[in-house]
Amino acid sequence: MVDNQHLSRRRLFGMAALSAAALAGATTISAAPRAAAAGKAVAGGTFVPAVVIGTGYGAAVSALRLGEAGVSTLMLEMGQLWNQPGPDGNVFSGMLKPDKRSSWFKTRTEAPLGSFLWLDLANRDIDPYAGVLDRVNFDQMSVYVGRGVGGGSLVNGGMAVTPRRSYFEEVLPQVDAAEMYDRYFPRANSTLRVGNIDKKWFEETEWYKFARVSREQASKAGLSTTFVPNVYDWEYMKREAEGSVPKSALDAEVIYGNNHGKVSLDKSYLAAALGTGKVTIETLHQVKTIRQQKDGNYLLTVEQKDADGKLLATKEISCRHLFLGAGSLGSTELLLRARETGALPNLSSEIGAGWGPNGNIMTARANHMWNPTGTKQSSIPALGIDDWDNPDAPVFAEIAPMPAGLETWVSLYLAITKNPQRGTFVYDAAKDRADLRWTREQNAPAVAAAKSLFDRINKANTTIYRYDLFGKQLKAFADDFCYHPLGGCVLGKATDDYGRVAGYKNLYVTDGALIPGSIGVNPFVTITALAERNIERVIKQDVVAK
Ligand SMILES: Cc1cc2nc3c(=O)[nH]c(=O)nc-3n(C[C@H](O)[C@H](O)[C@H](O)COP(=O)(O)OP(=O)(O)OC[C@H]3O[C@@H](n4cnc5c(N)ncnc54)[C@H](O)[C@@H]3O)c2cc1C
Repeated sequence: MVDNQHLSRRRLFGMAALSAAALAGATTISAAPRAAAAGKAVAGGTFVPAVVIGTGYGAAVSALRLGEAGVSTLMLEMGQLWNQPGPDGNVFSGMLKPDKRSSWFKTRTEAPLGSFLWLDLANRDIDPYAGVLDRVNFDQMSVYVGRGVGGGSLVNGGMAVTPRRSYFEEVLPQVDAAEMYDRYFPRANSTLRVGNIDKKWFEETEWYKFARVSREQASKAGLSTTFVPNVYDWEYMKREAEGSVPKSALDAEVIYGNNHGKVSLDKSYLAAALGTGKVTIETLHQVKTIRQQKDGNYLLTVEQKDADGKLLATKEISCRHLFLGAGSLGSTELLLRARETGALPNLSSEIGAGWGPNGNIMTARANHMWNPTGTKQSSIPALGIDDWDNPDAPVFAEIAPMPAGLETWVSLYLAITKNPQRGTFVYDAAKDRADLRWTREQNAPAVAAAKSLFDRINKANTTIYRYDLFGKQLKAFADDFCYHPLGGCVLGKATDDYGRVAGYKNLYVTDGALIPGSIGVNPFVTITALAERNIERVIKQDVVAK
């Protein structure tokens, strides 16, 4: 109770700091007096006791707990603070008419559902800009990630799912599951402010007709569904439906940011972290290289850019403790580059290995004319088809909306499957980037699992797949992109069992890179809970004790 009060007070302080920074157009965000926030000037740069790279889930947890422990901490985020309305009065551009705010340095938006009747109706030409959603394109796999203060929490669907304990134990056998399910999952859910939909409202509202239709069709195939908790404020959504507040989920907002309603990390963990007075966030600061000094401290080269991509400064920042929270792609790339360029030569050969897309496959079905899914669809999913106990092909399928504003008769899904295939990142010196070795064939087991589930549903309802939504070719299963990149610096392999990077002291991975490619449900609750567990141990043994 006392803890919760502390957290709420800190969150309020932090929210005030975020608003003040946004109003001033500042790239330094802090609730501390200016001098205390800036770090100590040293020859050739700045020294801070702890640096956290990124501001996504793993990063935000680490920063909050370091701040609470009294450790001055600097967070470096390559994206922007998303807090200041543009000329249209909104912080984010909507999904139906995206502008440059939607995308990370693209000349055209790259929406996951790029077509309808094979026509590219969803995408728009835009100016390159530090927008909120990035699609990182590798040869045979594209990965969507969030960019900005809050990382993926700015663009994701907010589905906050605790994995099935038996699968968690299978994926991370070295982690004490009892401790996770008794302490760290509840802590993560409560600090993220996860809530449940009012079931009565769900059954009545036109906004979830699409989910009820899919539930009925799943049920005809003998499949059961489960409600999925979310960080979207369900009570706010009800008020949206009544028309008493500005709409967000009910105005087709999600992958390019929600202007209202969603409790993204800047409103939970990061606000509380800033509220400790010990944490500073620098935005539009991208860490390029990491090396170690003779005294054991880490030295980072950091590029500061403006939102149009113009280089403003190159900085050197050193720290005693370095936490990588740049996401599966970002953290893995930084460590691979450090190993392959000889900056951190003792890094393990496991860096780059064990990557997977969490078995993500999108698919869609065409309903009969007498079975419409509704012109009004909330952009926040509330229900999943749970067939994870199927021994042949376990699938957890999120029933996704298609909030086009007109009747499409489409039922859309994101299937999370159990695909044992793993990819590997290798450093491409010519391009100075991590390249993903992953082939389309590696996704065949995931497609087969999704197909076996949706074949059952189609058979029971005499329906067929939609072939027109995933590009110009005939395609029923989107197997070439994912939302859930996991792995690359796997726990217990590239790191010890608490995220300490093998071969180096005071160097940690805190994010989705730790999870070996699959967790069976939407991953951010697991990333958050694991980060809570790891940072508690690290602060006690490595930071405060020293
Ligand atoms: C469209 C979409 C929908 C999703 N829906 C859900 C959902 O409903 N439920 C769910 O559980 N998951 C969902 N996810 C996935 C979820 O958002 C991610 O699993 C999660 O954000 C990963 O957390 P993380 O801590 O690993 O890193 P991230 O959240 O990816 O954060 C990494 C941060 O580091 C920054 N960064 C990267 N490199 C550098 C660098 N070199 N220097 C400085 N900063 C850097 C990035 O800009 C980013 O802000 C979705 C993802 C997307 C894209």
